Amino acid sequence: MAKIAINIATGSLQQAEMIVGIDLGTTNSLVAIIHPESKQPVALKEHDSSSLVPSVVHFDSLGNATVGETAKQYLVSDPANTIFSAKRLMGKSYNDIKQNANFFTYKVIDDDTESLVKVQVGDKFYSPIELSSFILKELKQRAEHILKTPVTKAVITVPAYFNDAQRQATRDAGKLAGLDVLRIVNEPTAASLAYGLGTNTADASTIAVYDLGGGTFDVSILNIENGVFEVLSTNGDTYLGGDDVDRLLVHHFMEQFELSDTELAGDKMLTQELRLLAEACKKALSSNTVFETTFRGESIRVERSFFEQLIQPIIDKTLACCKQAIADAGITIAAIEHVVMVGGSTRIPAIKAAVSNFFQKPVNDTVNPDEVVALGAAVQADILAGNNKDFLLLDITPLSLGIETMGGLMDVLIPRNSKIPTKVGRQYTTSKDGQSGMRISVYQGERDMVKDNRKLAEFNLTGIPAMPAGLPKVEVCFLVNADGILVVTAKELRSGVEQSIEVKPQYGLTDADVEQMLLDSITHAKDDMQLRALVEARTEGEQLLGQTEKFLSKHANALTQDELLNTAAAMQALQLAITMDDKDLIHQKIEQLNEISRPYAERVMDTAIAVAMKGKTIEEEL
Ligand code: ADP
Ligand code: MG
Repeated sequence: MAKIAINIATGSLQQAEMIVGIDLGTTNSLVAIIHPESKQPVALKEHDSSSLVPSVVHFDSLGNATVGETAKQYLVSDPANTIFSAKRLMGKSYNDIKQNANFFTYKVIDDDTESLVKVQVGDKFYSPIELSSFILKELKQRAEHILKTPVTKAVITVPAYFNDAQRQATRDAGKLAGLDVLRIVNEPTAASLAYGLGTNTADASTIAVYDLGGGTFDVSILNIENGVFEVLSTNGDTYLGGDDVDRLLVHHFMEQFELSDTELAGDKMLTQELRLLAEACKKALSSNTVFETTFRGESIRVERSFFEQLIQPIIDKTLACCKQAIADAGITIAAIEHVVMVGGSTRIPAIKAAVSNFFQKPVNDTVNPDEVVALGAAVQADILAGNNKDFLLLDITPLSLGIETMGGLMDVLIPRNSKIPTKVGRQYTTSKDGQSGMRISVYQGERDMVKDNRKLAEFNLTGIPAMPAGLPKVEVCFLVNADGILVVTAKELRSGVEQSIEVKPQYGLTDADVEQMLLDSITHAKDDMQLRALVEARTEGEQLLGQTEKFLSKHANALTQDELLNTAAAMQALQLAITMDDKDLIHQKIEQLNEISRPYAERVMDTAIAVAMKGKTIEEEL
């Protein structure tokens, strides 16, 4: 069935529009979409150019910005006005980056050390958000040019370790670029999605994502269950990547040409040429076993085996991070079912081999490693757009989800407009002694009484061992996974008995239905509230009567004659009040009965009563 996107605020249908996936990388950025015909994710590129846009912004003397390959040309010749690695500055204060201040060849402002950093170019100041927005604008324009349609909605990826400030900064950069950022997705999650991991299995699975890019290394251990991606641990080195590989080769060439650091520092052209030579050599050695060329009249030959020796320390560093990530996740290597390779540098065969050897299994490397994150973002975008028919995914739950508690009340576990995936658990208990079963009825809607809501499912939790009322602890857990499926689990925690059910909350609901349900809840809000209060009061009163009766049957002989008479009178008064539609009267009678019983109840402490008087109860299984 097709997903219907509903604007909760207006109740209107949302226009279908292409949502793009964006990998906003430290070194390279790119856009991907799900191809409308092939339904496969593809990275967008013009003709036969690369899909990668270098994450570099150059400002000319007038302050005009250019982004990408053109800007990259200025890295060596005009470093003060060429901003690279802006992603490293996202959501950071100068204090955060001062240890690595030398890394930046442009001016990072150090004024008030706790406020967010700015970059100075000429007499202008740019925040990392603005700098990132230039890159995003370029990507947006590119996409619009290729797709020949406006692009206003995007899913953008960020490293798993990004904190809230950095995620918000990324969102803001999107907004500034004219993009509505529908979701921020973790890069390792996107990469896993691109491999189809976690999309069509209910089984739990553990994945390691190894991401070696241009300047950063990240390893993430993910757990996927019911389509929910949980990051178990992350590790890495924010200053380790392909650039370091290039630097090692540059040093090697400098040795060969007998060049000193000072000679190189004085010759920007030579510096740039050597860097390009190193990168060309490295890339060639990913597919050939030897690299041969001439450079300024001298012949150069680098064998793969030599190169592999050269970079072994880098490989070892990444594996140490992997080891730590596994330890932090509290698992063993054997528990990892899939290893996903991400980042241009994982093209290096020695790295692939070392990672595969470390994890003791073949790695997933069939998807282009520098596109895989963007491709996964496109998969996520497509699910959000509702084009992916295998999923029933809503960004938020349009209606509340809950269960029926005593007196036919709706107890909401997941309120409407909750972001999904989401998981909520709540404890309930029994209302009768020795109650062995519990009926879990799942409802959807905004009304206070379940009879006014929509019943989704019902199941019985059976086999609860005999216990006094109020003692069993039944945890009801609602999980709405990324594809909109609700899984309800009920588990009695003392005995471990468990039962679960799966439902599609939106199944068969049209947008008009949802709208009507919301309207009804508003129209009846006041009546509902009063009714809920009355039902709650009645339930409370009935419970108290039951408990008191039980107490008397056990401990009557511990009470004085007066206490017995007063209790009987108060019980009768409460019984009568319950039959009337006045919650205040019921509360008053509850209070009176409590006042009479408190002194002797304290005398004859019975914890079961104390426990039972707290917590919500569910009616016995029918
Ligand atoms: P980021 O995620 O940091 O933006 P990428 O994933 O785009 O970075 O990776 C960029 C790095 O990948 C660069 O250092 C680049 O030189 C390296 N790279 C690209 N292709 C190859 C290749 N064929 N062999 C080795 N390294 C490569
Ligand atoms: Mg990357």
